[in-house]
Amino acid sequence: RTVYVNGQYLPEEDANVSIFDRGFLFADAVYEVTSVLDGKLIAYDGHVERLWRSLKELDMAAPCTPDELLEIHRELVSRNGIDEGLVYLQVSRGSDGDRDFVFPGAETKPTLVLFTQNKPGLADNPAAKKGAKIISVDDIRWGRRDIKTVQLLYPSMAKMMAKAAGCDDAWLIEDGHVTEGTSNNAYIVKGGKIITRPLSNDILHGITREAVLRFAAEAQMEVEERLFTIDEAKEADEAFTTSASAFVMPVVEIDGVALGDGAPGSVAPRLREIYIDEMRKSAI
Ligand code: PMP
Repeated sequence: RTVYVNGQYLPEEDANVSIFDRGFLFADAVYEVTSVLDGKLIAYDGHVERLWRSLKELDMAAPCTPDELLEIHRELVSRNGIDEGLVYLQVSRGSDGDRDFVFPGAETKPTLVLFTQNKPGLADNPAAKKGAKIISVDDIRWGRRDIKTVQLLYPSMAKMMAKAAGCDDAWLIEDGHVTEGTSNNAYIVKGGKIITRPLSNDILHGITREAVLRFAAEAQMEVEERLFTIDEAKEADEAFTTSASAFVMPVVEIDGVALGDGAPGSVAPRLREIYIDEMRKSAI
C-alpha cells in the first residue's frame, strides 16, 4: 500500500512520524474518513468543510489547501486501485521535538497523514441486511464531541464492551438520553417519524447525517430533531445509525430487546438505498 506523509507518497513500511508528534503524545490531532465507491470520493466537500472547522476550533494550522488535499485523496485512491473502500486522513499539531502541554509556536508544521483501506462490499454489505445488535453504555467522553479528534479510546472500549456482550456496537447515554453511537449518529423510528438528537457540542455533526436527513425530507418522511431516551429507543419500531464508512445501518436489538420483529424495518433499508444511489451520483 502506498501512503502519504507530509508531502511524500511512500510504501507504508517506509512512512514514519516523530515520537514527539503531539498526535501520538496528546491525541492532539483531528481526522476524517471518506468513503470510496466506484473509485470516487463520497461527500468529499462535507468532510473537508468539517476538517477545516475542527482545525479552527483547536487553533491548528491547515497542512495544505483544500484543492491539494483533494489531489492527495485522488492520487492515493488511484495508486492503490481502490474501487470500494476508505481514505483515512489525519492532521496533528506536529512537534517541536519535545513534550510540553503548551502548544508549540507557529513555526511548528502540522503532520498530515493519509492512507487507504480497501473494503470491497462496502455498499453491498451483508451486515446491513442482518442489522446490528447494540448495547448502551455511559457516555463519559469530553464535552467537545463536535470536534473530530483522535481521542477514540473510550469509543474503542465501548466497542469492546459490545463485543464482550455478543453485540456489534454501543450507543452512548448521557442523562438517560442517547447522544450517538461509538462511531456513528443514532436514530429511532416511531410511527413513521425519524427521531434524532439535534446538533450541539454533544455529538459529532455527521456528514452522513446531514445527507440522510435531507434525503428523508425529500422522500416526504417526517423528521424530528430532539433528545430521546434509551427506554424510548427500546420501544421504537426501528432504529439505525449513520456514518461515512457504514452508510445507513439498521439496528435490530438494544440491550437484548428486539425492535419490531427483530429484523431491519422499512425506513432504514430504504434510506440506505437512497443514500447509496445518491452518493454514487454525486461522487467526485
Ligand atoms: N459520531 C461519531 C462519534 C463518529 O465517530 C462518527 C464517524 N466518524 C459519526 C458520528 C458519523 O459521522 P460521519 O457521518 O461524518 O461519518
